[in-house]
Amino acid sequence: MSRIAYVNGRYVPYAQAAVHVEDRGFQFADSIYEVVEVRDGALVDEPRHLARLERSLAELRIPRPMSEGALRHVMGEVVRRNRVRNGLLYIQVSRGAAPREFYFPDASEVEPTIVCLARPQSRAALEARSLAGIAVKTVPDIRWQRCDIKTVMLLPACLAKEAAREEGAREAWFVAADGLVTEGASSNAWIVSREGAVITRQLARDILPGVTRATLIDVLKQEGLTLQERPFTVEEALGAKEAFITSATQIVMPVVRIDGRMVGDGKPGATTLFLRSKFHQFATISSA
Ligand code: PMP
Repeated sequence: MSRIAYVNGRYVPYAQAAVHVEDRGFQFADSIYEVVEVRDGALVDEPRHLARLERSLAELRIPRPMSEGALRHVMGEVVRRNRVRNGLLYIQVSRGAAPREFYFPDASEVEPTIVCLARPQSRAALEARSLAGIAVKTVPDIRWQRCDIKTVMLLPACLAKEAAREEGAREAWFVAADGLVTEGASSNAWIVSREGAVITRQLARDILPGVTRATLIDVLKQEGLTLQERPFTVEEALGAKEAFITSATQIVMPVVRIDGRMVGDGKPGATTLFLRSKFHQFATISSA
């Protein structure tokens, strides 16, 4: 079965799916995106993803390409037409195609480009990974000062993840000049202290407000765990009882090694696995 992409109003086979050579997403990374987990054919935390998409567009003054209702319809269609039961849905919106100029084109001359894709992801493989845990490599945070906007300006993340992979690690953690961990290359970073407090950096312009992070905070509150929203160093993470990352693609994923050194006893932590097991009970599940 050939995969189907939604591109600017049409559902097309991949071979025919294309955007303009002068799309500003391609030329300037003038584009934002969302990634949503698809679970049993349903969308996980769709309202929070749509709210963040809306905010990213507003921050960059890209007009909304369609109503929220229409976008939800497209998302459902893309999941169905690709027969994805478990996997990921991608939405990307750029400012559109226009003759190459740094200034924003006149609103009358450009329409946003919208692309929506879906692809399967094995739940069994993800589950197996969570039982082993992942290794992380730390890298300097060389990104810009608006990491709170989910733009496709992902080159620092690509470089970081490639450097991690070359050392056998799955994720990279960005470390700011002050020695504090900001977040993962494509995830939020967490630790669990010896006293059992669950710690993650506070929201500001230097990290993405993760949807999984927000829902996990709901889990922590409901389950009566202590949350501390504050930064931590790599040393503190290495001395912590547990570490993990959150993202729509990995959900809650244990971190068992940082820069080749063991976190805790080098095995996925009990709190981390408990939070992972609870996560979907607290997420909003919308039929696609
Ligand atoms: N931080 C960064 C830099 C990311 O790319 C992601 C993944 N989109 C996250 C955090 C986690 O966000 P979410 O839980 O919404 O997937």
